[in-house]
Amino acid sequence: TGQREPLSDVVAGKVASHPCYSQNGHHRYARMHLPVAPACNLQCNYCNRKFDCSNESRPGVSSSLLTPEQAVAKVRHVAAVIPQLSVVGIAGPGDPLANIQRTFTTLEMVREQLPDLKLCLSTNGLMLPDAVERLVNVGVDHVTVTINTLDADIAAQIYAWLWLDGERYSGREAGEILIARQLEGVRCLTAKGVLVKINSVLIPGINDGALSDVSRELRASGAFIHNIMPLIARPEHGTVFGLNGQPEPNAQMIAQVRERCGEVMPQMTHCQQCRADAIGMLGEDRSQQFALTPVEES
Ligand code: SF4
Ligand code: SF4
Repeated sequence: TGQREPLSDVVAGKVASHPCYSQNGHHRYARMHLPVAPACNLQCNYCNRKFDCSNESRPGVSSSLLTPEQAVAKVRHVAAVIPQLSVVGIAGPGDPLANIQRTFTTLEMVREQLPDLKLCLSTNGLMLPDAVERLVNVGVDHVTVTINTLDADIAAQIYAWLWLDGERYSGREAGEILIARQLEGVRCLTAKGVLVKINSVLIPGINDGALSDVSRELRASGAFIHNIMPLIARPEHGTVFGLNGQPEPNAQMIAQVRERCGEVMPQMTHCQQCRADAIGMLGEDRSQQFALTPVEES
C-alpha cells in the first residue's frame, strides 16, 4: 500500500515535525491555529457560518477572531510558554484563502518574527490555484485541502453555492468548478514539494461510496495522507445537514471507509478536529489558558 513507500529525507523531516502528519510527532510537538480568517467563498451543507470551518474544526465551536497583529503577538507569547510549539496554522474560522490579505499578512509576520516555526494552512481549495506561488514563497510547507468528492453530482448535494470572481455558482456547475480547482491546486502544490493532506467529511448515503476515488486520485496527484472526518450534524448546530436529519456515520462505517481508502493512501486516524484557535499538543487545547492573554497591537 501507499503506507510503505519510502520517504525522501526532506519529506520525512516535514512529516516528523508536524503533529498532524506523524503519529509520533503528535506527542512531541505542539500546534497553534490562528483564527484570522472570517470570510468564506463556499457554502458547505455541514457548515454553520457562526462557527469554525469544518475544513479542520469540529463544527459548532466558535473561535474569537484575531487581527494579524494580535495573532502574531499571541504566537510570540505562546512560543515562550510552550517550547514544543512547532507549527502555526491558519484554519479559519472561514476559509483562509477567502481572506487573502489577513492570511498572508499573518503568515508573513510569523515568518519574519519567528522563522523557526513551520507554517501550515487548511482550505477548501477553491482559491488554491491562485495562491500556490505565494504560499510557497512565504514558506508554507504543509497544506490541508478538504475534498469531499470528485463527482460534480455528489458535490451538488454537499455544497449550496460558491463565489468565484464576483459570480455565484450552484448545483453541478459549482461542483465542477470546485473539483477542477481543488485538483489543480493540489497538483501545483505537490509539484513544488509542499506536503498535502486531504480532509474529507464522511457523509453517509452521500459520499461514503465515493471517498476511495478521492484517495486514489489525490494520491496520484501527490497528496501524502487522507484524513476522513465523520460528519457532525446535530440539529442544534443549525447546519443544512443538521436540520434535515442527515445521519452521522457510525464507527463501523468510519472504519470501513478508512480501510478501503487505506488501500491506496495512508490514513490519518488521530485528527482531533481542533478548533480554529486550538493551542497545544494534539488532543489538548490550551486556547482558554491564553484566551485572556493581553495582546499587543503593533
Ligand atoms: Fe464553512 Fe469551511 Fe465550508 Fe466555508 S469551507 S462553508 S467555512 S465548512
Ligand atoms: Fe491536526 Fe486535525 Fe487538529 Fe488540524 S484539526 S491541527 S489536522 S489534529
